[in-house]
Amino acid sequence: MRELLARLLRRPASAVVEVPVRDLVHETLRSQDLPSTSEFSELKRELARANQELHQLAQRVDALGGTIEALRDERDALLAASPSPEPAEPTSRRCKVPGCEGDPKSKGFCKAHYGSWRKGELVGFVGPRGRVEHASRVLVVPMRHQGEPVTVTGKKRFTVKVDGEKVAFELLG
Ligand SMILES: [Zn+2]
Repeated sequence: MRELLARLLRRPASAVVEVPVRDLVHETLRSQDLPSTSEFSELKRELARANQELHQLAQRVDALGGTIEALRDERDALLAASPSPEPAEPTSRRCKVPGCEGDPKSKGFCKAHYGSWRKGELVGFVGPRGRVEHASRVLVVPMRHQGEPVTVTGKKRFTVKVDGEKVAFELLG
C-alpha cells in the first residue's frame, strides 16, 4: 500500500489533476497486477455479504443473550420459591462412647477413646481395618464401618450388627 501511494505521488502533478483520482487508482492497481475493477466490485460485494452475515450473527447473539437473561430470571425465581435446604444434622459435640463427655477429636472419639480404638481395645466399636473381637475370635466387617458401634451375638454362629444393621463379616483364624 505504501508503494502504491508513493507511485501515485511520483506522477506529475498535472496528470494527477487531469485524470480522475479513481481512474488513476484503478490504473495503478492494474499495473501492479492487483484486482481489476470487476474483481474489486466482486470483493466489495463479498464484503457487503460478510457484513450482513456478521450483522445477522450479532442479532442472534443478542437474542441468545435475551434467552439467557430470561433463564437466569427463571432460575432466580425458582431458587427464591424453593424451601431452604434442611439444616445439616447436628454433629455430636461429645465423644461417641456412651457416657463419655470428652470432646470428639477423631472419628467421633475423644482423645483417650480414639487412642484405645487405634490399639483395637475399644469394645463395642468396629476397630481399625474393620476388626471386631468377640468371644476370643476376630471378625472382620467391611472397612467402611470402622469406628461405628457394633454388637456381636451368638456363640458358634455369629450375628454382627453395625449401627443396628446386620452386616456381612469374615472370621479370622
Ligand atoms: Zn471418650
